[in-house]
Amino acid sequence: PASFSYQWDTPAYKGKTEFNTGLFTNNEFVDGSNKTTIDVINPTNGKVITSVSEAVEADVEIAVAAAEKAYATTWGLNASGAQRADLLWKLAILMERDLDELAAIEALDNGKTFNWAKGTDVSFAIAVFKYFGGWADKITGQTIETDEKKLIYTRHEPIGVVGQIIPWNFPLLMLAWKLGPALATGNTIILKPSEFTPLTALRICALVKEAGFPPGVVNILTGYGPTVGAAIATHQKIDKVAFTGSTLVGRKIMEMAAKSNLKNVTLELGGKSPTVVFDDADLDTAVAWALHGLFWNHGQACCAGSRVFVHAKIYDEFLKKLTERAKAINVGDPFGAKTDQGPQVSQTQYERIMSYIESGKSDGATVHLGGERHGTEGYFIQPTIFTDVKPDMKIVKEEIFGPVGVVIKFDDDDHIIKQANDTLYGLAAAVFSQNITRAITTAHKLQAGTVWVNCANQLHANVPFGGFKQSGIGRELGEYALHNYTNVKAVHVNVGHVL
Ligand code: NAD
Repeated sequence: PASFSYQWDTPAYKGKTEFNTGLFTNNEFVDGSNKTTIDVINPTNGKVITSVSEAVEADVEIAVAAAEKAYATTWGLNASGAQRADLLWKLAILMERDLDELAAIEALDNGKTFNWAKGTDVSFAIAVFKYFGGWADKITGQTIETDEKKLIYTRHEPIGVVGQIIPWNFPLLMLAWKLGPALATGNTIILKPSEFTPLTALRICALVKEAGFPPGVVNILTGYGPTVGAAIATHQKIDKVAFTGSTLVGRKIMEMAAKSNLKNVTLELGGKSPTVVFDDADLDTAVAWALHGLFWNHGQACCAGSRVFVHAKIYDEFLKKLTERAKAINVGDPFGAKTDQGPQVSQTQYERIMSYIESGKSDGATVHLGGERHGTEGYFIQPTIFTDVKPDMKIVKEEIFGPVGVVIKFDDDDHIIKQANDTLYGLAAAVFSQNITRAITTAHKLQAGTVWVNCANQLHANVPFGGFKQSGIGRELGEYALHNYTNVKAVHVNVGHVL
């Protein structure tokens, strides 16, 4: 297969990369069975960066065979926890060595800034591999007392061959969230990155091999959702599918799993998270975090705080301060040393977001800030704030997944919880108040898998993350993530019980 090389000489990063763009199975790069490729577009200018092999259904068969073989021979119950820990740590250390290069690839491919990619995406991915490496030799079951004539214990066994399908908003980080717990618990993997952002996943393949993972343990197939993704979700010999992406596709994944072999399913889906700012909040703290909640990663975060509810008493001042800070967001080249916001990931997303902005305008909301394209090339959008919105407007109800938020005034503290919970999603929420009782009471009433009190968008390798309602099933990160990747077996040993 072809390889890709690239050289950067930018204010943020000077360096180069070179890696293979084939499919990765059995620790080797190979062409796709159809020999077709997918163009990878640079969102900063709309030009082709390179092309990568396109996997098709036949390649899923090859990957499944490799993963099954590895599971039965070198991995699964055949590799000790200590071996798995060691390999996960080796991978993390290799990623540390190549941190800047990985960050540069992510910025090039996704459009996020180099500084954020380095400080968050790659650094957090490394932390995730180390964290789950730490768990690998600490997977324990229970012994359960019944009576003295029986010894009963549980084992947390790996599930087997696992399919993982991930999105484009945090390409490397989502890969780490998926691979980390699955490898720590002894599963073998077929992972499909998003067709929009396959490059860091491919760069990681060489590190997987260099770290010493046996062939077939990690297989990466670049390809499209309806072909490769669907082949994974419907495969009879894939025992589990873990998916991160839209609620729309998540629903299809579950259907495909049900209709094929009833494989185990975990889903991390969309959100329309509320930020609730009470009148006793520290205003500057609330403004700073609400801004981060809304515009982090160009608004392309599943947990984005895209509905900001502000108490009437402080609404005007809050909005003024938020607007000043949003105006100061530096939109531009991801490799600029001072850039805060790069382009949206793709033409499709750009058009989708602009159509939401148009719908807000035509539904009669006020464009308080932004609302237009930024510049003339690439997929840049101005940070946008809508006010004067109504609860049934599309921009209030639907996930926009761009730098677009709504700010809503409230004056009834009891009603605000109902408004905040009035969504089919339940991924995250943030609450701002200096009254601890009010803050915690609100946190407990909000229907979300994560609630941030006086902060936003905080994630840690050891803290679970996932959704209530239609935001998902299962938890990633933390000890909870291990449950996504193990089967519990109860073993009953008769030590004298007579029938
Ligand atoms: P998407 O659902 O379009 O695609 C996600 C992945 O699914 C991609 O790899 C895609 O190729 C694949 N896919 C698409 N159609 C498929 C099909 N029919 N069968 C199998 N696979 C298919 O989502 P996206 O646009 O890549 O990502 C944005 C979405 O992801 C947002 O809704 C966002 O909220 C969500 N997201 C959630 C989390 C979380 O942890 N909850 C994290 C990041 C992103």
